[in-house]
Amino acid sequence: MEIRRSEERDATAILTIINDAAVAYCGVIPAGRWHEPYMSADELQRKITAGIAFWAAASWAIDFYRRMATLRSLVGIAILVPSLALAQASRTQIVMLGTGTPIPDPDRTGPAVAIVVDTVAYLFDAGTGVVRRASAAGRNGIKAFAPRAPSLQSQYSPRFDRVFLTHLHSDHTLGLADVIFTPWIQGRRVPLDIYGPPGTNRLVTGILDGNAEDIAERTVASGGPSPEGWKSVVHEISEGPVFQDSRVTVTAFAVPHAGWKYAFGYRVQTPDRLIVISGDERANPSIAAQCRGCDVLIHEVYSAAGFATLPALRQVYHAQAHTSATQLGDIATQAKPKLLILYHQLFFGSTDDVLLGEVRSRFSGRVVSAKDLDVY
Ligand SMILES: [Zn+2]
Ligand SMILES: [Zn+2]
Repeated sequence: MEIRRSEERDATAILTIINDAAVAYCGVIPAGRWHEPYMSADELQRKITAGIAFWAAASWAIDFYRRMATLRSLVGIAILVPSLALAQASRTQIVMLGTGTPIPDPDRTGPAVAIVVDTVAYLFDAGTGVVRRASAAGRNGIKAFAPRAPSLQSQYSPRFDRVFLTHLHSDHTLGLADVIFTPWIQGRRVPLDIYGPPGTNRLVTGILDGNAEDIAERTVASGGPSPEGWKSVVHEISEGPVFQDSRVTVTAFAVPHAGWKYAFGYRVQTPDRLIVISGDERANPSIAAQCRGCDVLIHEVYSAAGFATLPALRQVYHAQAHTSATQLGDIATQAKPKLLILYHQLFFGSTDDVLLGEVRSRFSGRVVSAKDLDVY
């Protein structure tokens, strides 16, 4: 009897330990369930076997979870590393600072496209709002437009290294004074280089003359910003190569646009992308000849459906000034860009979807309708 009672006490003690450990470990075994006195040897054996099975299952489940966590990490790394490598590989960003037209749409500032290579920004057209949009792009992570000195972290200081004007319609140049003066006030110390068609010199001279009082007050009376940074060096261009440095080669080509004698599109070769910008133009063969399978074609456009609702006189003007979405679809089919970006969209009451549908009715490649601050 003594032995029997001793075995029972030992078994009870063992089961109590298992039970308490199980409860402490995962809290799923109700307290006292295995804590039953006076059980038979067979019953004890079954319960011990069940306990071992429970721990084996729990261990396997924990191990499986850990393996899955490791697997998830490996899968994540497998996706992340090539993504980072691709992001690192591309040195060029196209920042759509402004996609608008003369229409004062609050969501679309005047036409302005920044091609950013590494941290250097080349600006194509300077529509109204361009500097504020560049500040917003800087806030969104575009390093070319972010504050560069730690002491300026709380301020905005977008910088443009070169400006290229497609033509002198005011919707493309109203922000030029802003581009000349605001970055200067924020710290630019060297003159700004401005490339544009004949007439650009007169425009820039007028801007500087008109702001002579401001320049004098800031540089002389207040002893403020750099005495050189407000100055602008104008390069009036003709067709052909207009600029080259270690990052870009910029070539201008003539385009037909309303009554303008000089209107240009630009072909920009960066270290890793060939980009063609139409400027304003009516449909013509030059884009296909310049692009020829280029990486990105950025093209102005108007909605054919919207156009049909215009008064006859407005139709006459826009038909010889701009390119319809269906015409652009045909142009893109010949030009074969890897990506077609619509900008300077004239909706005439239409929508992005209608515009894209019109292009896609003639072009099967990749096309997007850009919005301000889109980055490609
Ligand atoms: Zn325009
Ligand atoms: Zn124009």
